Amino acid sequence: MAGKKVIITGVPGVGKTSVIDGTIQKLQDEGVLYQNINFGTFMFEVAQKDGIVSDRDQMRTLAKDTQKRLQKLASQAIAKIDGNVIIDTHASVKTATGFLAGLPEWVIRELMPDIIVLVETDADQILKRRFSDLSRTRDIEGFRDIDAHQQFNRSVAAAYAMVSGCTVQYIANADFLLEQAVLQLSSILR
Ligand code: AMP
Ligand code: MG
Repeated sequence: MAGKKVIITGVPGVGKTSVIDGTIQKLQDEGVLYQNINFGTFMFEVAQKDGIVSDRDQMRTLAKDTQKRLQKLASQAIAKIDGNVIIDTHASVKTATGFLAGLPEWVIRELMPDIIVLVETDADQILKRRFSDLSRTRDIEGFRDIDAHQQFNRSVAAAYAMVSGCTVQYIANADFLLEQAVLQLSSILR
């Protein structure tokens, strides 16, 4: 039987990776296995080999066409993976010239997910998490910019549902409530 393909998105700093790690662990304890696939890592491996970036956070500053080339290669490689997969990625990426769709038509048709999840929380919590994550180069922006980005992500997710027939689910990852986000995501994936 074909596996389940679930795409997890959320603005930088919302805590997607923590929610995914917690969920994969919880489901594994129950005997439900998911592979954890990070879309950005697939892009970064190619970008690094090409010598165009030395850090994953530099990718969103590359020329738009370069980002799209890396995106296409990543989606083709990820589409070949069998079994249950969680794909950690972005509904949209904030670039110098505006929001770049994370799953444009040629990507969404390649991946054909069952579900797209948007991990969200309040802008002030996201900004605080960005400040405290010293392992990454996170964009420091105002609350309104973060709100606008989350809003754009909901809009563009509707377009992804139209193309692929997937469902769209919003999950809150509020301060001190990571466990609830994990429970909610687990119940969707189980
Ligand atoms: P992350 O570790 O999830 O923040 O991803 C690192 C970087 O990978 C992002 O800042 C983007 O530059 C890139 N990236 C990840 N997913 C996508 C996507 N679907 N489309 C375009 N770029 C992406
Ligand atoms: Mg992450």
